[in-house]
Amino acid sequence: MKKVIALVLAAVLCAAALTACGDKPAGGASATLEEGKLIVGTNAAFPPFEYLGDDGAPEGFDIALIKAIGEKMGLEVEIQDMEFNALVAAVGSKVDVAIAGMTVDEERAQSVDFSNSYYEALQYVVVSADSEIATMADLAGKTIGVQLGTTGDFIATDDVENAQVSRYDKMVDAVNDLVNGRVEAVIIDKNPALVFESNFAGQIKALDGVQFEFEKEYYAIALPKGSELLTQVNDALAKLKEDGTFDALVAEYIEETK
Ligand code: GLN
Repeated sequence: MKKVIALVLAAVLCAAALTACGDKPAGGASATLEEGKLIVGTNAAFPPFEYLGDDGAPEGFDIALIKAIGEKMGLEVEIQDMEFNALVAAVGSKVDVAIAGMTVDEERAQSVDFSNSYYEALQYVVVSADSEIATMADLAGKTIGVQLGTTGDFIATDDVENAQVSRYDKMVDAVNDLVNGRVEAVIIDKNPALVFESNFAGQIKALDGVQFEFEKEYYAIALPKGSELLTQVNDALAKLKEDGTFDALVAEYIEETK
């Protein structure tokens, strides 16, 4: 019995000092912050916001934006690519902040603070070019592909009646399965939907989320709860909006997929 208690106690202590049991000290990311480096988590599989460039390094609207924000804050930005579903938990431990076309969401806001929103978004429904799906009622009972832990996943899981939800780590895999006929619809954010629609031209079509009465979403940067970085990030964002940098980035990365 004593042994069991000791074991449980050890587990509890370990959980309490989670980071101390891992390979990084508590606040590991903020240690590098003091050296002038901002470690940023993303999931580089979400064009045009983040994707891997020809050289294999993450690029896209969010990456350019966070680099510009870092510059205003006097910090060098280092990007860490990881699964979308791991990002919220990584903020404050593995990374200082996360930028990933991440929708402000009540549940996430229990674990992270969000910056002011920088982009309005909406979920779209991507279907094969000859599909007759056009409304929420049509989606009922269908096989729907989503990226694990995204708002598209929440909609398919919670709002679509009797949906069979297939969850993928990468959106492109959901889209590939749509093209292969393994799923009947994919729920993903508007701009990536439009990128995939043009990548698979003639095979799939992206349907406006308005048809499905989806709610507007707002992208923001995720920061550790109570972080003093929040005001600095919001100030930098405001400055980039004022000086035209923000609009130039929208034009460069997003405009053509609007
Ligand atoms: N905007 C969606 C969300 O926050 C998807 C983001 C993503 O896949 N990068 O859940």
